[in-house]
Amino acid sequence: MKNKTTSVAIAFIVAGNAAAYAQTTPAPAPAPPAPPLFATTKVEGTDNVYVFRYQNHQAMFVVTPAGVIATDPISYGRPQAAEAYVAEIKKITGAPIRYLIYSHHHYDHVAGGKPFKDAGATIVAHKRAKERLEILKDAATLVPDEAVDDKRVIELGGTVLELHFTGRNHSDSSLVMLLPKEKIIFAVDFNQLGSVPSRLAVNDSYPIEWEASLKRTLTLGWDRMIPGHPGPGGRLGTRADMEQQLAFMTELSSEVKKASDAGKCFDPASKEVRLPSFANMRNYEQDIEWNIHRWCGYWGRGI
Ligand SMILES: [Zn+2]
Repeated sequence: MKNKTTSVAIAFIVAGNAAAYAQTTPAPAPAPPAPPLFATTKVEGTDNVYVFRYQNHQAMFVVTPAGVIATDPISYGRPQAAEAYVAEIKKITGAPIRYLIYSHHHYDHVAGGKPFKDAGATIVAHKRAKERLEILKDAATLVPDEAVDDKRVIELGGTVLELHFTGRNHSDSSLVMLLPKEKIIFAVDFNQLGSVPSRLAVNDSYPIEWEASLKRTLTLGWDRMIPGHPGPGGRLGTRADMEQQLAFMTELSSEVKKASDAGKCFDPASKEVRLPSFANMRNYEQDIEWNIHRWCGYWGRGI
């Protein structure tokens, strides 16, 4: 009986607190309206550069009088995204889609190329993307028609687009697409605009080489970056974002190496290593352990 009395008393106190909370807390603000499923935006200050976003993925396309250069179909698990992408292009121009260029070989960015191929596009990707996709044989992800080694320049209808392989980073097949006149790059998944790389971003990745690739990308002439996932508030990336990502990775690598040398990889390094000067990056708490785990694999096991 004594226990029951105690429970009743506690229940009364909790209920009392809930009532007080209800009286003093304002009603929550209504949630902002959900963004539309997809959207096409012309990049400010350009004549012909667009971003097509579908949910949380996006791709660049360039419209010229001689045809369109499209990139990444972003249709993994949703073929309707590529259909919408092609329809959006057709609203802007009657010119043919001449190219579809893959940023790297991961399905979430390059599955769904069929509507582009059907429209006559030539699919271009880094040579390792082609090699991998030939082996993987994913039904939704078309194998590129043409492969790029270190560099290729595409000129179409007065627009120049340079494709640069700046080394292995988040994948071993990432192409940086540079519009030299506009000083814009389209670069996917290896620079995350103030965010700690996610579990999926480090799952297929190359420590050390990733840093070198960021340095090489920073030697190219650009000042704005279109990312493969929308930045905070939909903003484009900056060189400062890439410099921050590089600084984060340099310190991560150095701290994890120390932990590895002390025999602490994988545990307790994943719990002990922390980078306080980067703790304000987005997703730091959520993803720092995945990053430590990946770099522990590198320094501790040669993986
Ligand atoms: Zn990726």
